[in-house]
Amino acid sequence: MSLDKFKEECAIFAVHNHTEAANLTYLGLYAQQHRGQESSGIVSSDGVRHYAEIGLGRVSEIFNEDKISRLKGLSAIGHNRYSTQGETQIRNAQPFAIEYSHGPLALAHNGNLINASAVREKLEREGSIFRSTNDSEIVIHLIAKSREPRLKDRVIEALSQVEGAYSMTIMSQDELIIARDPNGFRPLSMGRLGVAYIFASETCAFDLIDAKFVREVEPGEVVVVNDEGLTSYFPFEKAPKKHCVFEFIYFARPDSLIFGSGVHHVRKAFGKRLAKELPVEADCVIPVPDSGVVAAQGYAEEAGIPFETGIIRNHYVGRTFIEPLQSIRHFGVKIKHNPIRELIEGKRVVLVDDSIVRGTTSRKLVKMVRDAGAKEVHMRISSPPTTHSCFYGIDTPARAELIAATYSVEDIKGFLGVESLAYLSMEGMMGALNESPDFCVACFDGCYPIPVPVAEGQMELLEKSLADANAPDDGKQTVIIK
Ligand code: SF4
Repeated sequence: MSLDKFKEECAIFAVHNHTEAANLTYLGLYAQQHRGQESSGIVSSDGVRHYAEIGLGRVSEIFNEDKISRLKGLSAIGHNRYSTQGETQIRNAQPFAIEYSHGPLALAHNGNLINASAVREKLEREGSIFRSTNDSEIVIHLIAKSREPRLKDRVIEALSQVEGAYSMTIMSQDELIIARDPNGFRPLSMGRLGVAYIFASETCAFDLIDAKFVREVEPGEVVVVNDEGLTSYFPFEKAPKKHCVFEFIYFARPDSLIFGSGVHHVRKAFGKRLAKELPVEADCVIPVPDSGVVAAQGYAEEAGIPFETGIIRNHYVGRTFIEPLQSIRHFGVKIKHNPIRELIEGKRVVLVDDSIVRGTTSRKLVKMVRDAGAKEVHMRISSPPTTHSCFYGIDTPARAELIAATYSVEDIKGFLGVESLAYLSMEGMMGALNESPDFCVACFDGCYPIPVPVAEGQMELLEKSLADANAPDDGKQTVIIK
């Protein structure tokens, strides 16, 4: 069952100096389950050795009291994974935990390293043996190869050899190191719980454990936490901030604070802008749950049209369910969404979603709303058309599969079978972000902040103009080098 969405990437969590380090990490991962449901892991440290519990599935499926009690020590790091690199296998699950000449080391990464193939090839030529297909493992190898005596310097030396997006936690016996790439693609925040330091991808993890939000880890910052306290370093060349705008559009939880703003507030502002730019005569505004809910609230409020939860989402669909032997029409969508006929019948409906990727799910949802008796369906999307793939830690289909990369809005309207279709403009989106230049918007305009490889395993950079990017797709990833 394809969700037909850009997929959330990963969540990280770390704690130093707390008697319930593993339990807090479990809760921190639980709060961030939306960022990855394929595998989850916790590694703890008691100051001498590491303890690890890692498995495939969701946090509540993997951990129990027994397992948590085996994770001894006052420090722990954890990771939820949705694969952006490497297939779903236990060997790709994180945190990576190894023993090397300096003792135990564990690492958890949210993001994607765009020069991973080249660095890995070089390391393999020099004799390194990899146990996973995951790009994050190269950082472990680079740390292990460094001759620097201090872990902090080994980490800095390793990270200065990689390019791309990373929010990362690294743990030795007695030290926690937190690093965020110079562009700050993915979110990463710091909190306190009594004397303990806490780090998480999203602040919703702090709320669950009553930790106090202190600040974001800055782009390019390396934070070292040990028994002497916290020290901050900025060892890398400064780069423009390029936070992933899709975190606001879809990925992050509405109750989180990221990139200096509340997700709910920004997401609602997208909906309000959408209503201002693209008004329509209608009887009700219905979100595609859950992704379109907050933007639909903004749209309804601005347009003065009643908001209705006209589609109900089943939140309890597991990764495996038994499909009927006899084919049921649109089963994949129906298992997750069901319309409320009384709210829809005879109505002119504004259907709001955050984005359209392939368009196949949107088309089925439109059909479902029509079958429930809608007189008209007007689709409104709270982001611009997604025309390019992501290389910075978000799982996206190849560009050729993105419907907006190939087809016009008018064509997509026909494909979806709606009376009207409109996307939030780029200007509208940037206006809702106070015209800040601090955002990556590459999946909308193809202007990649860091040059990306053209295809898997191929490191030559294709120097093309924006006009070239709009040329017919040849099946390869097209990139614009800025
Ligand atoms: S390309 Fe899109 S999804 Fe990827 S980091 Fe940039 S804004 Fe986010």
